[in-house]
Amino acid sequence: MPHDNHDQDHDHDPLEQGAALRVRALEELMVAKGLVDPATMDAIVEYYETETGPRNGAMVVARAWSDPEFKEWLLSDGSAAIAFMGFTGFQGEHMRVVENTDAVHNVVVCTLCSCYPWPVLGLPPTWYKSLAYRARVVREPRAVLAEFGVTVPEGQRVQVWDSTAEIRYLVLPQRPEGSEGETPEALAAHVTRNGMIGTALI
Ligand code: FE
Repeated sequence: MPHDNHDQDHDHDPLEQGAALRVRALEELMVAKGLVDPATMDAIVEYYETETGPRNGAMVVARAWSDPEFKEWLLSDGSAAIAFMGFTGFQGEHMRVVENTDAVHNVVVCTLCSCYPWPVLGLPPTWYKSLAYRARVVREPRAVLAEFGVTVPEGQRVQVWDSTAEIRYLVLPQRPEGSEGETPEALAAHVTRNGMIGTALI
């Protein structure tokens, strides 16, 4: 996949390693001072690594593709429709779902920090938090998308959504051609994390 190298680059980013070291130092200090219980911290991390993740979002997308009424609800009240599917919690309280069409391709960023819809996508990928992505996707979205392997045709508008603490976005990709009659499970298998951020088509 074209974005794999992108991820890899950031894995070796000395700034990111510095951040990881600072986080670990903070964590050790807080544990030493008795401010946090390491078991609680481990449970929280495990929850976000195993219980939530892009599969949740993929199930939301698959349902929207196969159920027009649900799709209408999802687009008009993302928070309620997603909560109805059981995906609730921190960083997912106020959701807006934006639909890709032949006229518009949506892509999500948090220019200020790394706001991201955890209940439906899990933890954000490293590149999403990088200064380069946050700055460039606003200025030159088509160029950034091309680096992810996404070519947006001239006639298709690119809409960039800037997440905040108040509102998180999920992109509803266009349903793949030839997927008529597929079960929701099969439909969900088409959907990638990047597709729901907008840095992939599906
Ligand atoms: Fe943020």
